[in-house]
Amino acid sequence: MDQPSPAPTPHRIVVVGGGAGGLELVTRLGDGLGRRGRADVALIEKARTHLWKPLLHEVAAGSMDVGRHELDYLAQAYWHGFRFRFGEMVGLDRSRRLVHLAANFDDEGRLITPQRAVGYDTLVIAIGSVTNDFGTPGVKEHAIALDTPEEAQLFNRRLVNACLRAHTQAEPVRPGQLHVAIIGAGATGTELSAELHRTLRGVVAYGLDKIDPDKDIKITLIEAADRVVPALPQRLSEATARLLGELGVEIRTGARVTEVRPDGICLAGGDFISSELVVWSAGVRGPDVLKDLDGLEVSRSGQLVVRATLQTTRDDAIFAMGDCAYLVPDGETRPIPPRAQAAHQQANHLRRQIARRLEGQPVEPFVYRDFGSLVSLGDFSTIGSLMGFLAGKGMLVEGYVARLMYRSLYKMHETALHGPVKVGLDTIARSLTRRTEPHVKLH
Ligand SMILES: Cc1cc2nc3c(=O)[nH]c(=O)nc-3n(C[C@H](O)[C@H](O)[C@H](O)COP(=O)(O)OP(=O)(O)OC[C@H]3O[C@@H](n4cnc5c(N)ncnc54)[C@H](O)[C@@H]3O)c2cc1C
Repeated sequence: MDQPSPAPTPHRIVVVGGGAGGLELVTRLGDGLGRRGRADVALIEKARTHLWKPLLHEVAAGSMDVGRHELDYLAQAYWHGFRFRFGEMVGLDRSRRLVHLAANFDDEGRLITPQRAVGYDTLVIAIGSVTNDFGTPGVKEHAIALDTPEEAQLFNRRLVNACLRAHTQAEPVRPGQLHVAIIGAGATGTELSAELHRTLRGVVAYGLDKIDPDKDIKITLIEAADRVVPALPQRLSEATARLLGELGVEIRTGARVTEVRPDGICLAGGDFISSELVVWSAGVRGPDVLKDLDGLEVSRSGQLVVRATLQTTRDDAIFAMGDCAYLVPDGETRPIPPRAQAAHQQANHLRRQIARRLEGQPVEPFVYRDFGSLVSLGDFSTIGSLMGFLAGKGMLVEGYVARLMYRSLYKMHETALHGPVKVGLDTIARSLTRRTEPHVKLH
């Protein structure tokens, strides 16, 4: 008697990294291909919960409660037809199509998940970027980067502790004790400085009356280029610098940091800035694991080099997207910037292209549309440039309109993950509970 032929195994799609881009992609693939049984969709991720990275400066400043915005990967996988594989990608075997994962241990050193390998037919690498300290001495020891929610929370704890210490100590507040130095005046550093101005005063206002905010608290923004937010048009840099100046944020442009010490920052030229709280936000690079990923090509900035289709240059079955991908579009001289809007567009693009690939159709090239940049200066203002509208001409926006547009990028991310109904209900719930809670995190 003839044996029934075994059911064909579904195509295995594996996305590594559930961040701004990867989680949108795997959610959509799970909803589409996964639920219909057309593919086996899986996410490999080293964290257990997701928090949209552009919120990290708000976490660091204490104006955002992580618990209200983080998303459990296991639950998201259950709701959206994909599997969650908890673990960090540490290597790749391209000939056997395996992703190697490190073992995971709990706080007491007990094994949670063993070292293992996950097989794929199509692989998407979306593991983001890490802060680039350019080998500057003392950064690892004495500065905090905002790469993960844990780092942002660590900075916030140091900040609140510094305020509590200053309030209870017998001696006067030391120079530098409540000074925050932020190195890198790109969007992250600039947004953080404005947000900190507000929240530090908020913490003190809750009764730490031995601290004089105007005398004891100082925020310094240090930038090697000759203006703040150098990626934005000159006019916006000037407007940003003016607003920060009105808040009392000290700006040092054209200043190169040579060392970070426990008590402050040394600049080329000999200046020293006293500061016991230092954030490093000067540039990003690809995570170290990409350097040796079974021969895949990497750029000088340590990102995976991809073709216009977002396929890696040496392997058609492997795509890269978001901050970890390096793509210089045809006719351009600079790569697509490491931004959430690029990751969002690439997730949309790859969702369609992977479906085409499964049907045996050719993969189409990705076209990046720069919609401009927005910088949020906390409650004070939002300014930025909008591109691509009005027949390709750029447009500068400020104030309430810019603020709404800034928020809409996050809403687009949330909608991609949960759909419009849940996002609408969540927004109402958050705005109601916000009225009954402190506006700054106090622990
Ligand atoms: C404070 C701040 C403010 C920002 N503001 C803006 C803004 O206003 N507008 C804007 O467009 N962009 C902004 N950005 C940049 C934006 O956050 C990034 O461009 C975006 O998050 C990139 O998305 P991604 O999916 O490539 O990576 P990420 O969102 O960083 O996600 C990467 C994921 O991969 C996981 N991962 C990493 N390594 C591994 C591994 N080896 N194995 C398994 N999992 C791994 C990580 O845990 C993470 O979940 C901001 C960034 C910061 C830090």
